[in-house]
Amino acid sequence: MKLPFFLASRFVAGETLADSLPAVDALNRDGLHVALDKLGEHVHDRSAAVAARDTYIDLVRTLAGRDGTAGLRNRISIKLSMMGQLIDEDFCEDNLRQLLEVAAERDMFVRLDMEGSDLTRSTLNIFEAVYPDFPNHVGPVLQAMLKRTDRDIDRMCELGVSVRLCKGAYAEPAEIAYQDMGRIRERYLDYMERLLQHTDYSGIATHDDQIIDATKAFADRHDIGPDSFEFQMLYGLRRETQREMAQAGYNMLVYVPYGTEWFPYFSRRLREKKENVWFVLRSLFKG
Ligand SMILES: Cc1cc2nc3c(=O)[nH]c(=O)nc-3n(C[C@H](O)[C@H](O)[C@H](O)COP(=O)(O)OP(=O)(O)OC[C@H]3O[C@@H](n4cnc5c(N)ncnc54)[C@H](O)[C@@H]3O)c2cc1C
Repeated sequence: MKLPFFLASRFVAGETLADSLPAVDALNRDGLHVALDKLGEHVHDRSAAVAARDTYIDLVRTLAGRDGTAGLRNRISIKLSMMGQLIDEDFCEDNLRQLLEVAAERDMFVRLDMEGSDLTRSTLNIFEAVYPDFPNHVGPVLQAMLKRTDRDIDRMCELGVSVRLCKGAYAEPAEIAYQDMGRIRERYLDYMERLLQHTDYSGIATHDDQIIDATKAFADRHDIGPDSFEFQMLYGLRRETQREMAQAGYNMLVYVPYGTEWFPYFSRRLREKKENVWFVLRSLFKG
């Protein structure tokens, strides 16, 4: 059974790119950078992976050609499992390279979303394979909840690569992931400090005021200017705060997902927070 799209419309900009572009333009007009993501994951068919690559290439062209985006750091965010990672890593790397060629020509950054822990090692391997050829146009996501992230942060600091740091949206077992929010936050803060000191323009992706405030305070204490990093939030969450932070002079990026395959993304948002369920219930009564 397919749920009606309006249930997800608080968190997903549209089912098509055309439907989503007005949301992108509105965010850009308010000085917010955008990372556009065509939703979908876990492709097992070669032709579907090639089609996903071509969709991402079109997305880069569309976004790069948009009027009124001078000075904004718009980009795309992708899942490697859409581009053949589960079929064959070399095939996926080849698809990614083709996408990065187009992105680099247009000076657009491509962020590699991090999926469940079964894909962490493979995602970072593919990232490291392409990074030397596209050092300014590709970067990974690291999840503070994973115990391995301590080492991965060291590696990214050594490379000086821009990382998106998040807590982690997937349920992971206790052997490999911290389960306690206090511990995850404490790890997050440590990683944030290392990224701000040793990488250029990493993304602090969170809606958590404790982390946001600590990041601002750390940057102030260490003379790290607001142009050296950015905050990131998800489309539909803390909308006022996103704008206030941009007005206060921080780089704020909004992750804007779109597409018909919104259900897994939508369920992760509902699992995360009771308030998100409330947004959906409200839309039911409005609709
Ligand atoms: C831009 C972006 C990209 C992401 N990419 C990935 C990815 O590639 N892979 C992945 O696994 N995960 C990703 N995530 C999801 C992330 O891992 C977390 O699951 C998600 O962000 C929830 O954690 P949080 O730190 O935002 O806040 P939470 O842990 O949900 O909340 C912590 C506290 O923040 C405050 N807060 C949270 N939401 C609100 C709100 N709406 N209004 C007011 N206060 C609020 C509250 O005080 C709350 O107690 C991404 C998140 C963002 C923002």
